[in-house]
Amino acid sequence: MAKALSEIAAIKKALGDNKFAVGAYYKAATFVANLAAPIAEVDLENTKGIGEKISRSIKELLSTGKIQFIVDNQRYLQADQKVEELQRVEGIGEKTALVIYHKLGISTLEQLKKAVADGSISAAFKDKTVEKIKRGIEYLETTKGRIRLDEGMALAFKIYQYMKPFVKRIEFCGSLRRSKETVGDVDFAIVAQNGVDALRKFEQMPIVTKIIDSGDKKSSVWVNGVRVDCYVFTDDLFESGIMHLTGSDEHNKRLREIAISKGWILSQYGIYNRGSDNKRTGDRLDDGTETGIYKLLGLEWIPPEHREGNIEIVKYALGNLVPLLQSSDIESDYHVHSTWSDGTNSVRENVEFAIANGFKRIAICDHSQSLKIAKGLSVERLQEKIAEIKQLRKEFPNIKILIGTEVDIKGDGSLDYPDEVLQQLDIVVAAIHTNTKKDVTEIYQTAIRSGKVHVIAHITGRMINERPGLEMNVEEVLKTCAQYNVAIELNCQPNRLDANDAILKRCKALGVKISLGSDAHEKNQIKYVKSFGLWISKRAWLTKDDLLDKD
Ligand SMILES: [Zn+2]
Ligand SMILES: [Zn+2]
Repeated sequence: MAKALSEIAAIKKALGDNKFAVGAYYKAATFVANLAAPIAEVDLENTKGIGEKISRSIKELLSTGKIQFIVDNQRYLQADQKVEELQRVEGIGEKTALVIYHKLGISTLEQLKKAVADGSISAAFKDKTVEKIKRGIEYLETTKGRIRLDEGMALAFKIYQYMKPFVKRIEFCGSLRRSKETVGDVDFAIVAQNGVDALRKFEQMPIVTKIIDSGDKKSSVWVNGVRVDCYVFTDDLFESGIMHLTGSDEHNKRLREIAISKGWILSQYGIYNRGSDNKRTGDRLDDGTETGIYKLLGLEWIPPEHREGNIEIVKYALGNLVPLLQSSDIESDYHVHSTWSDGTNSVRENVEFAIANGFKRIAICDHSQSLKIAKGLSVERLQEKIAEIKQLRKEFPNIKILIGTEVDIKGDGSLDYPDEVLQQLDIVVAAIHTNTKKDVTEIYQTAIRSGKVHVIAHITGRMINERPGLEMNVEEVLKTCAQYNVAIELNCQPNRLDANDAILKRCKALGVKISLGSDAHEKNQIKYVKSFGLWISKRAWLTKDDLLDKD
């Protein structure tokens, strides 16, 4: 009965009925589902929330075993299932998706792309909407449906908090656990007293927009276009399970090859002897922990950030690894904005926050004079700022406050302050902020060769899922940095994470130091250095020695 009522609601929604009528049916469905007594015994006329129409539908189902309205409108129910894929396009809500389905007979992304390309979509929409759909598809193609690490983390944290009361153990896996800068879908592994119940709770989370699959061992849902999978494990299979789900696929493949070479089979069930039929045989060989599985394979435990492919296996097999970077190794934030330019907190507030969060060094780097939209500092105002910081230093002896600037690199590679001004500063962080048609490699090299620059900020200028980086020969710029002892910034804003892990690895190889900078425009963002900054540094295999240490 509850199912029938929610089907009526779904059909009415598809038909564009007003949302109160639709809501009434959904509410009635919930009411019926929670009834203690059989529905036939309920006095429908005197039940709050059950109107005349709903009461009629209930009686119809009780007496005939079906509701004609549902039978007649079955296709709308199917449509509702079908258009979920279209809704992955930004700007296509359920309503637009249903119009696309009913007017154009389109239910897949592939078909939609074709209709946009050949113009046939114009039969159903005005130019403005077509333009919006086009942009949505382009966006989906550039992001490949992946969300940023911080968005993935926020989503995972919400789910974690919600599920916590219903589970004994819970862990997110996949690329999120490996701290990739973008994540495709979000995977959870749980252990629960009653796994099936926990999965039903998972499906009933208020943020769920649609249930994709509902099983006894696994459940999959959409949350605003992001797929979230939840897997149930028993206690003894939990760690081999999360190891399997964490990946990467390449990493797992290498591990399975090692197992095979030893006459074993490795899977989400742990390690077993391989029988003549290539199946698991005998007792489980490992102790059920991640560490134990790696150990049996002859490896040290590999942190998720390093589980990407080939090279880590060799290194971890050899042992003697330098210690992995830890939060406590990070003592400096070399890129913080204050109210002197476009930051929302004063120097004092930033400094107090940095001390409270365990930093030993903070560089106050406001914008330079040409960057008018970001309230860049004139030479006179910069002098006032220098005076203020010198004053504050006396008050805060436990932290080193560096007087810095985020100086603009102009189109000809020159810097936005005269040399004699830059010489007064402890740290000069240089950045390109305007799009230029000139050779970016040359612009950077000119700036680096000036001998006035300590750090290059957000080298590529990319914004994750928004815009690609500047075109340049990164390798040549890094080589020049190595020559002139200039560091490369890891900008820890989660929409930048620039330089990325691949460039950072090159820096390490070339002996270029890495400067961690929050680019905080609000004091809380200073924390990004110890979260996103730490994670991406780990992915790049950085150690404490690779970090800039500027006094
Ligand atoms: Zn900047
Ligand atoms: Zn900045």
